[in-house]
Amino acid sequence: MLALCNVVSRRQLMRYRGGENGYADRFEAGLRDRCDVRHALAVNSGTSALIAALVGLEIGPGDEVIVPAYTWMATAVAATAVGATPVLCNVDASLTIDPDDIERRITRNTRAIIPVHMNNLVCDMDRIMDIARRRNVAVVEDASQAVGLSYKGKAVGAIGDAGVFSFNQFKNITAGEGGALLTNNEKIYARALMYHDIGASTREGANLHNQIVFASMNMRVSELTAAVLYTQLQRLDGIVRNLRARRETVLSALKNIPGAEPAPHNDPENAVGLAIRLPDADAAAAFAGRMDRTSRAIDSGRHIFTTWKPILDRTAADPRLNPRNWAERDVDYDVAAFQPTMAHLARTCLMETPFRLPHPMLRRKYRKAAQSWTA
Ligand SMILES: *Cc1c(COP(=O)(O)O)cnc(C)c1O
Repeated sequence: MLALCNVVSRRQLMRYRGGENGYADRFEAGLRDRCDVRHALAVNSGTSALIAALVGLEIGPGDEVIVPAYTWMATAVAATAVGATPVLCNVDASLTIDPDDIERRITRNTRAIIPVHMNNLVCDMDRIMDIARRRNVAVVEDASQAVGLSYKGKAVGAIGDAGVFSFNQFKNITAGEGGALLTNNEKIYARALMYHDIGASTREGANLHNQIVFASMNMRVSELTAAVLYTQLQRLDGIVRNLRARRETVLSALKNIPGAEPAPHNDPENAVGLAIRLPDADAAAAFAGRMDRTSRAIDSGRHIFTTWKPILDRTAADPRLNPRNWAERDVDYDVAAFQPTMAHLARTCLMETPFRLPHPMLRRKYRKAAQSWTA
């Protein structure tokens, strides 16, 4: 509140001319510091950050970008926004992108992989980075759903060539809308910086890395948004600690429920997110029916590629700008090609909102549920 009042009383609601006291600048400095990364750029959404990252990497028409078949549609849409083709990839039992399947889906047109840390569940970044280096493709981490987490001691979002956060209503920290791009690569940053502000060559830092000036978009973040984000960033450690404690609570209740076990996790020691794996789809449905605010991942609707109508239909605002025009081949979005994903989603449950319940209430609920199970 105080931060918002500051912005309004200074009458400086746009980030420029805010100087070093501007919240956008301070928020970016906070992200750089926290994630131990050279460059951070605050933007108006996670989708914008993904698009800016792909532009930063010079990805465009004719290129292929590998994205998981289980993510928010924005991950795939970002590829089409730069004229590239999203190539879908299975997820494994961890509900994150399957490294073996990435290998199979790389072609000579593949330019990037976008691993998505879904539901605070981190991807197998060691294997993904190894594949990417070997096959000479870039990695853009979509950490929209894992802001503030780490993988084997490194901040997620700072491991790939670029990484993005979202701060919309449903994320670990939020300003209603907002996003950020992280990178250690000056060229990616310079191009993203240019792209996020209509290609304005007059702005500070716009001539970094001697980039050519190009026409683009407005993805700027306002000082009002940045003030909220700056304040939330100070709370992020506490939020993550809280999520971890809740995970432990649910895990200990699960011990009493036959067949329910934590899904494989790519960094168990630092785990924050929890997916619960049942022996099969029916057992998962029964579990979800008995547990409060719990559903099978397959019932989460919009995060599954089968609901991504514009991607499946391969439509564009103007047919002349359709990425299909430049693609060397058509890609397979048929559900039959993604049976492993569908099977994992069907037998794995997620708890939608336990993290919004006060912790003692959560503990009571899960204790009771576990007791009723064994009774
Ligand atoms: C939220 C989210 C985004 C970006 O969403 P915005 O609403 O544009 O901030 C991208 N990818 C994933 C996986 C998300 O969950």
